[in-house]
Amino acid sequence: MKDTFKHQGLRNRLVKILIEKGIKDVNVLTAIQKIPRHLFMDSGFESFAYQDKAFPIAAEQTISQPYTVAFQTELLDVKPDQKILEIGTGSGYQTAVLLEMNAKVYTIERQKELYKKTKLFLPKIGYKPKHMSFGDGYKGIKEFAPYDGIIVTAGAPFIPKDLLMQLKIGGKLVIPVGVEDQIMTVLTRTTELDFEKRTYGNFRFVPMLKKKN
Ligand code: SAH
Repeated sequence: MKDTFKHQGLRNRLVKILIEKGIKDVNVLTAIQKIPRHLFMDSGFESFAYQDKAFPIAAEQTISQPYTVAFQTELLDVKPDQKILEIGTGSGYQTAVLLEMNAKVYTIERQKELYKKTKLFLPKIGYKPKHMSFGDGYKGIKEFAPYDGIIVTAGAPFIPKDLLMQLKIGGKLVIPVGVEDQIMTVLTRTTELDFEKRTYGNFRFVPMLKKKN
């Protein structure tokens, strides 16, 4: 599991592309500059790791496009020591971005194969989430709630109520909502019962699913 000067050079180029596309949060850019994304993909696909594209991982899932990871993370507005819940651990790349930003990360994945693989892999390269669950992300992880932020990394057909209820007051849910394609949506909990909603353009994610594999 090597990270070479060449990889670092490719990452610097990727960061420049993300800046050109409008990403501004320095902490997000620094995280992407540091994380060896090629290690999150099967070897053999290394040369694709630093293109700004989504890519297939195991179990018919994808590692999100770097721009999408950066955009969602910027919307989440992560501060050090905040408790963040991620729905859809997948390759663990988004998890690593949040950990680089010194968040306390809780993450849940419904595909057993991916859950097992990523649970072993992340600590090997020095990333330690607070908690990793195998289960249904529609329900969140109630035992560790409330969270400062919740990020959903699969396309949600609707906004799950359980996730809204697991936010702190002032906390944010960043969620791509839709079936064919998704509208990036941010819901901020303003009071116990009130949420402010903003939308940020169209994206395309793998679907958030209910049945477990
Ligand atoms: N954050 C990941 C993105 C993976 S793609 C990364 O950086 O690589 C979305 C992930 O969401 C897939 O791994 C998929 O299996 C998972 N997923 C889909 N529906 C889910 C659900 N209901 N609960 C938890 N995870 C889910």
